[in-house]
Amino acid sequence: MLIKNQIYEAVVTDYTAEGQGVAHIEGCAVFIPNAIAGERVRLRIEKAQKTWAAGKIVEILKRSPHRVNRECPEAKKCGGCDFWHMDYEEETRLKAERVRTCLNRIGGEALEEMPILAAPTCFGYRNKAQYPVAVKKGRAYAGFFRAGTHDVVEMDRCRILPEESDAVRDVVISYVNQFHISVYDETAHKGLLRHIYVRRGTVSGQILVCLVVNGEALPHAEVLIDGLKKVPGFTTLVLSINERKGNAVLGDRFITLYGPGYIEDTLCGLVFRLSPRSFYQVNHSQAQHLYELAISQAKITKSDTVLDLYCGVGTITLIMAKAAGKVIGVEVIPQAVEDARDNARRNDIHNAEFLCGDAGEAALELERQGVHPDVVVVDPPRKGLNADAIEAIVRMSPRRLIYVSCDPATLARDVALLKQRGYQLENAQAVDLFPRCAHVECVVLLSKTRN
Ligand code: SAH
Repeated sequence: MLIKNQIYEAVVTDYTAEGQGVAHIEGCAVFIPNAIAGERVRLRIEKAQKTWAAGKIVEILKRSPHRVNRECPEAKKCGGCDFWHMDYEEETRLKAERVRTCLNRIGGEALEEMPILAAPTCFGYRNKAQYPVAVKKGRAYAGFFRAGTHDVVEMDRCRILPEESDAVRDVVISYVNQFHISVYDETAHKGLLRHIYVRRGTVSGQILVCLVVNGEALPHAEVLIDGLKKVPGFTTLVLSINERKGNAVLGDRFITLYGPGYIEDTLCGLVFRLSPRSFYQVNHSQAQHLYELAISQAKITKSDTVLDLYCGVGTITLIMAKAAGKVIGVEVIPQAVEDARDNARRNDIHNAEFLCGDAGEAALELERQGVHPDVVVVDPPRKGLNADAIEAIVRMSPRRLIYVSCDPATLARDVALLKQRGYQLENAQAVDLFPRCAHVECVVLLSKTRN
């Protein structure tokens, strides 16, 4: 076992899923934040377990050519991003490598290369922000959590957000300080304002502001609305009531204080209505590429029925509707299903149907009703597919299965399961939707090999 507080020397060889550097010392894996593969470092052990340890760089003995000066001055403190210390080339390389090794090690593939579609910019791309609010010396401020903590780091400009997001934040904070609105304190479970949530349509420029509150009402809301109207694109203000303890940001109840309670944005030529709880990819231009890839791999014809599980507001479903005979979307959040149905209407799409429920259960029910889609698309949350969903897909026996994934490890696990049930991996492609952050998205095509 390595010794806590002792200094060691090591070469960084790899990265964790969270983007930390990994080195091996005396058979023990050491996780080192801000380390780059190929670097030789002196490090201090901060935590030591039998098989792993956490270390901190004290000195870089051999510097990676990919190391750069951080373009975000707050990056060292803020836990929002992971990769400002390296160039974008190294970031995309490590992301592609992560997808490739997951598919090989867990998925049983033997892929030698993994293409990755790099993003055109690392700046201002994120269309959604969630700022936790805190108090320092009697003054409210909003920022982002320091990595691994709930301390809020204050910053002037977040580099990956559009300027309008930070402008909304500033308007809300100055209103909070003007009227001494109380700020939520996690430990005491007291105080009103918890989070400032901002969603901005990249194409429409429309802005939805949602304040998450531990309470029922917002005092002097009209003054806040007047202030927000000065931010270009401000469209609607919604309260989200969250009176529960815990880390979930949004509550279950929403009260619209100004505007329609949702915004619109255009994606792949269609207009989408977005409510605060609806899922919408945070990187607009890269999401379009991701969906175009998914659609081109699906090779849909006019006689095909397409089933889109985990469909959110119906983005992929409706984009595919144009090419297909019929599309069915399944989504668990009722508000998102309402948005999806509304999105079909506003785009004049008549061959789409949306069901609200668990993807696995709904798919099994559709299969019992004799629905046999030619193409199934799945785009699950990080935990991947559940046993019901896999069972239903196999029984429905689609010709092609498009799997859009935000977690290569669970994707690879599901690929291995589907391979045992008559499917094979035809194509895999990583797409960078989250520049400077460790998450990576990918899309794979599986096709049926036998009945
Ligand atoms: N394909 C959509 C949404 C993908 S995000 C898009 O790209 O825009 C994943 C979606 O799955 C979310 O909308 C989430 O609410 C939904 N979801 C999560 N668990 C689910 C389940 N068990 N059954 C159905 N949908 C689920």
